[in-house]
Amino acid sequence: MKLKTIISLGLWAGLCMGQSLQAQDLNIYSQREPFLIEPFLKAFTDQTGIKTKVLYSEKGLAQRLKSEGRNSPADVVLTVDIARLSVYDDMGLLSKTASATLEKNIPAHLRSPENTWFALSKRSRILATSKDRVGAAEITRIEDLADPKWKGRICTRPGSHVYNRALMASIIAHHGSEAAEEWAKGLVANLARKPQGNDRAQVKAIYEGVCDVALINSYYYGNMKFSEDAEQRAWADAMNIVFPNQGENDRGAHINVSGGGVAIHSKNKEAAIKLLEFLSEATSQKLYGEVNYEYPVNPAVLVDGELASWGTFKEDQLPIQKIADLSREAQMMIDRVGW
Ligand code: FE
Repeated sequence: MKLKTIISLGLWAGLCMGQSLQAQDLNIYSQREPFLIEPFLKAFTDQTGIKTKVLYSEKGLAQRLKSEGRNSPADVVLTVDIARLSVYDDMGLLSKTASATLEKNIPAHLRSPENTWFALSKRSRILATSKDRVGAAEITRIEDLADPKWKGRICTRPGSHVYNRALMASIIAHHGSEAAEEWAKGLVANLARKPQGNDRAQVKAIYEGVCDVALINSYYYGNMKFSEDAEQRAWADAMNIVFPNQGENDRGAHINVSGGGVAIHSKNKEAAIKLLEFLSEATSQKLYGEVNYEYPVNPAVLVDGELASWGTFKEDQLPIQKIADLSREAQMMIDRVGW
């Protein structure tokens, strides 16, 4: 009860600080940070004349949407990670959306089978390796993290974080439960320290010599490399970026997404679909790379600039929905092995 009150107060504060949500505008509930979505929304309004309003909150938006029910002003939901997209989906908060544009721009494995959610950008979970202490091609697969060779040399954030849980789910999907749990045990046995901190903190640990290999999302590399903070630039400078599982017969690097959907009770569905379509078109798809070093989902959009300098890589084509389906099992496994 107390927690609920705090959450709703936080949301109201967010509302009051911004403008109030009004029916005629396109209302967006966002778990993406404002600086990441504002450039997109400005371009959308310039192109379509449709004004947008954003209710931003890191937590509690799905609950809010649910309790608002039919009275919710929300038209579009934007969030990061399949785990969060599937929370909205599982709660029945997203509308089935028929759009030839979305189906053309977004490959089937990157949207829900029911077309309730759509991936709008991709990120890979990659290996960060120490420039000084790990040779090129010394570690090439996610499976290698369980090799006793790396004992005491690996850092990760806690396994229960959605990024790691999704990776765990992908390993269950590819190897089956038993082999996946063996891998997770091996990984935990190789950790240099108790799982802690966020992805950037793992690269800092490489810089400080605490460990030699870490798991991070690809965009953090770009964000650190071009950070205003000299310390973070130094962390990035201490690491090489390794896209795992690139061998000829291998499955490719694990992929996760940011994405969105149309709110189930939107009174403005046409404009809501327009926004999602806009986000899947070339202009926006390029912007994801420029704003946050994320990869386009639209196969017609080529990667350029800084992202291209990281090299091309093969992506795991596992349907993202599969990761959502296996997330509960993945979490139980993570708990059992103490990751
Ligand atoms: Fe992140």
